[in-house]
Amino acid sequence: MKTTLITDITVKDICEGFVYNEFEGKGLFGLSGRLTIQPEYQRNYIYADGKKDVAVIESILKGYPLGLIYFNKLADNRLEVLDGQQRITSFGRFVTDKFAIMDDNNMPHYFGKMDGDKQKLILEAKLLIYECEGKESEIKEWFRTINIAGVPLNSQELLNAVYSGPFVTLGKEEFSNSQNANIQKWSAYISGSANRQEFLERALEWVSKGNIGDYMSRHRIDTNIAELKTYFNCVIDWVSSVFVEVESEMRGLEWGRLYEQYHKQPYDSKKVLTEVQNLYADPYIKNRKGVFEYTLGGSKDTKLLDVRVFDEATKKAVYTKQKADAELNKSSNCLLCAIGHDANKTKIWNIADMDADHVSAWSKGGATDIKNCQMLCKSHNRAKGNR
Ligand SMILES: [Zn+2]
Repeated sequence: MKTTLITDITVKDICEGFVYNEFEGKGLFGLSGRLTIQPEYQRNYIYADGKKDVAVIESILKGYPLGLIYFNKLADNRLEVLDGQQRITSFGRFVTDKFAIMDDNNMPHYFGKMDGDKQKLILEAKLLIYECEGKESEIKEWFRTINIAGVPLNSQELLNAVYSGPFVTLGKEEFSNSQNANIQKWSAYISGSANRQEFLERALEWVSKGNIGDYMSRHRIDTNIAELKTYFNCVIDWVSSVFVEVESEMRGLEWGRLYEQYHKQPYDSKKVLTEVQNLYADPYIKNRKGVFEYTLGGSKDTKLLDVRVFDEATKKAVYTKQKADAELNKSSNCLLCAIGHDANKTKIWNIADMDADHVSAWSKGGATDIKNCQMLCKSHNRAKGNR
């Protein structure tokens, strides 16, 4: 790979013929059309948060270095941005009055209304640019190893760069476009942001059963994403038809795994809704995120719910009472040992060897209070819990 350091390109040159696509949130062209700002293996523009984009402009005004920018020089003398897309898009958007910077009195200043000397300072700022020439594979491999932009690439952004091609382009059109009206519906079940590729990542994770890189490599040159879309929609449709009401705790659950595990089972969505509502109303449940998998699994695995346990004071009080009764009756202080037929029938256990148990099971409405607490030896408690 050959690299050449270029030091005479200014912000003004870069912004010549700047085209920004508001809809897709990306800068398209600069340098009078010679420069492609967001080639398909680049991530979406994520500086438009009123902080990072403003910081770029303030850096120029204060004369701070903007860091290196890397261009990939193509055969026909055209250029594409390898690293620096976020900064370049910030220049272009500022110069075209898409955002303002604040002064010390918190007053907004747009480029078009700034003093001429300040405008000049910005436009004449020179950039440090490396032009790289090489084979596509070299360039991409190298892009994978540079992480000099303000926000490091996350794992899906890296995968998009490594496996760039028609499949990634189509995938991003569907899942990484925050203007897509479906994103709002999907975000009931998926956490993260479309811009940071987290919806695309979930879609790929679900269809590939977790082998995202492998799946992307196999489909890299596909010119359709039918399987990806269909599988994703199946999962979303399944969740939204089993659980007809959206709860905030649904966001970010492993819906792909749950779909695989349970989608062949029939569910009565009305019964499911009642079950979920009852569980949400239960003050003993500490983990509401577990409610959905618990319900799908036939309301058996209470570990998913992290049900509140008896506190130490309650355990101690119940232990003391049971021990006194046992000594009086010459029987075991474990209520189940006491009615058994082995040597433990009269054994007095230490509190450390016993566990608290719900007399009436929590899942049958039993409360977690002293009236519903009994101490059992550990093996009896375990045996009872497994029933
Ligand atoms: Zn026992």
